[in-house]
Amino acid sequence: MDNCIFCKIVAKQIPATVLYEDDDLLAFKDINPAAPVHFLIIPKKHLSSLADAKPEDAVLLGKMLELAPKLAAEHGCAYVEDANGNKSGGFKTVVNTGPNGGQVVYHLHMHVLGGAKL
Ligand code: 5GP
Repeated sequence: MDNCIFCKIVAKQIPATVLYEDDDLLAFKDINPAAPVHFLIIPKKHLSSLADAKPEDAVLLGKMLELAPKLAAEHGCAYVEDANGNKSGGFKTVVNTGPNGGQVVYHLHMHVLGGAKL
């Protein structure tokens, strides 16, 4: 998409602090972090929002969800449950959709936030 800022990040036309990249996904730090750890996971393929995902995108969406805890752990936000059932750490995932959902950038992205009690 010509005027999509996240497509431009995928194409390396504008800079971003990239945390992860593979053939399908890109993860990079949010430019205006709302938590000590705040990064975005996006599909490289342009989907305007979660509401535009089709059944054939299910694997892609699953990859985004699977990547979130791995990258969160790498950045100090692992969710841990010890042998006694005590839970610690963790992170928040958010996908804003449409104006009422607070979506500003119309290229599907998952926020991953952590590093504090949110
Ligand atoms: P939304 O409200 O659409 O879910 O959130 C868009 C997010 O993208 C915001 O948290 C905003 O800070 C982030 N963002 C917008 N433009 C850029 C950019 O050019 N680079 C990076 N790294 N993040 C951006």
